[in-house]
Amino acid sequence: MPIDAALRSRALAATGFMPADEGDALHAAAVEAGAALPGLPFVEVGSYCGRSTVWLGAAARACGTVLFAVDHHRGSEENQAGWEHHDPTLVDPRTGAMDTLPRFRDTIHDAGLEDVVFAVVGQSRLVAAHWATPSAFLFIDGGHGEQPAADDYAGWTPHVAMGGTLAIHDVFSDPTEGGRPPYEQIFRPAVDSGRFQPVSATGSLHVLRRVG
Ligand code: SAH
Ligand code: MG
Repeated sequence: MPIDAALRSRALAATGFMPADEGDALHAAAVEAGAALPGLPFVEVGSYCGRSTVWLGAAARACGTVLFAVDHHRGSEENQAGWEHHDPTLVDPRTGAMDTLPRFRDTIHDAGLEDVVFAVVGQSRLVAAHWATPSAFLFIDGGHGEQPAADDYAGWTPHVAMGGTLAIHDVFSDPTEGGRPPYEQIFRPAVDSGRFQPVSATGSLHVLRRVG
């Protein structure tokens, strides 16, 4: 079942980094996971302005479940002033710090997904340390430095239910194509642990199934 066309337009209109074909693949993988494990929620780590969140929220709605969207909303390293992916319109003039939460709320509101998508605002590592709910679908697209990626692997992947799905963004096995941590700190350990099996890949989006 493809994403509703109006919601897809909303996703594409949102600020963010998810290409259309990868968003569609994310949606399809989440719908499949939600159908296989009815009643279990989805988790997204790294929402930014809610672009990928719309594809995932649409999938959650189609499956009759919900999506927890975890982000401190202060931006990753590469979103800060002076870096490649900095957007000055996302700086809060009061604090001078990045704040993507207002834009995220607008995106989710305008997509009509406020009864499906719940923002969890905080550091991923600390939220994960207090998390206890198994999920049908986990999407990791948070901090892409070595430590945050390793923390997301350690903190979140144990909460994927058996038979559930782990999707990882920005996975580049070839170092000339992009940064290494999502591949080295998340994808490789997931597969090497024997707990996850690769299922498919679309661009830099890799989908794995929990098998152990
Ligand atoms: N999935 C989004 C893009 C996410 S960008 C899309 O495709 O549209 C990465 C996000 O991870 C940023 O919003 C940043 O604030 C968040 N992030 C980075 N490190 C984090 C951490 N340690 N805890 C919580 N959020 C973090
Ligand atoms: Mg990404």
